[in-house]
Amino acid sequence: VYLKAIEAHGFKSFADKVNIKFDAGVTAVVGPNGSGKSNITDAIRWVLGEQSARSIRGVKMEDVIFNGTSGRKPMNFAFVKLVLDNRAKTLQIEADEVHITRKLYRSGDSEYYINDEKSRLKEINELFLDSGLGRNAYNIISQGEVDEVLKAKPEQRRGLIEEAAGVMKYKLRKKESEKRLEDTAANLSRVHDIIHELE
Ligand code: ATP
Repeated sequence: VYLKAIEAHGFKSFADKVNIKFDAGVTAVVGPNGSGKSNITDAIRWVLGEQSARSIRGVKMEDVIFNGTSGRKPMNFAFVKLVLDNRAKTLQIEADEVHITRKLYRSGDSEYYINDEKSRLKEINELFLDSGLGRNAYNIISQGEVDEVLKAKPEQRRGLIEEAAGVMKYKLRKKESEKRLEDTAANLSRVHDIIHELE
């Protein structure tokens, strides 16, 4: 899977609708300080479901909405769409191209879409689980994070390797199955009690 383009409108400094296209290979973004380079990676994190405003350098989530400049009125929504090439079918979805969209209104209403179909964040998380692209995957390494990996505790480092190796999905399923087993055991025990009472 590879990132083909990002569309943004009303997200941070992108007051006008922008469409940033990426060719295969390495892309470098250059520009003066404060021109919005990091806002591009913030947009990627955000559309993938970032829930912490602080992680994308804000105080509250509303801070991602363009808040106006001297000559321009603030906007009332932020929109980001990722266009991913899925010809390799890394993402478990039929389409050759996958669009992930997030929209947030000042009212607090928030929407996610997978290929223009309204979705829940959970579905986006599941789609990206083990793809190496999710919000928690190490695809965006910010300043300071390299240090964090080096200083991480062995268990945390193991987590990183597991995510990269693609076993996270199975660990999650195992946990869900264990929970179901526990619930079933509890139900069984109740049934036994009832039988006992009847006897
Ligand atoms: P540096 O090289 O200093 O890291 P950069 O090119 O990465 O800079 P960013 O940090 O991405 O720049 O951009 C910050 C700019 O985005 C600032 O000018 C800030 O005013 C603007 N900005 C951030 N949030 C909003 C918002 N909600 N509305 C309008 N502008 C915003």
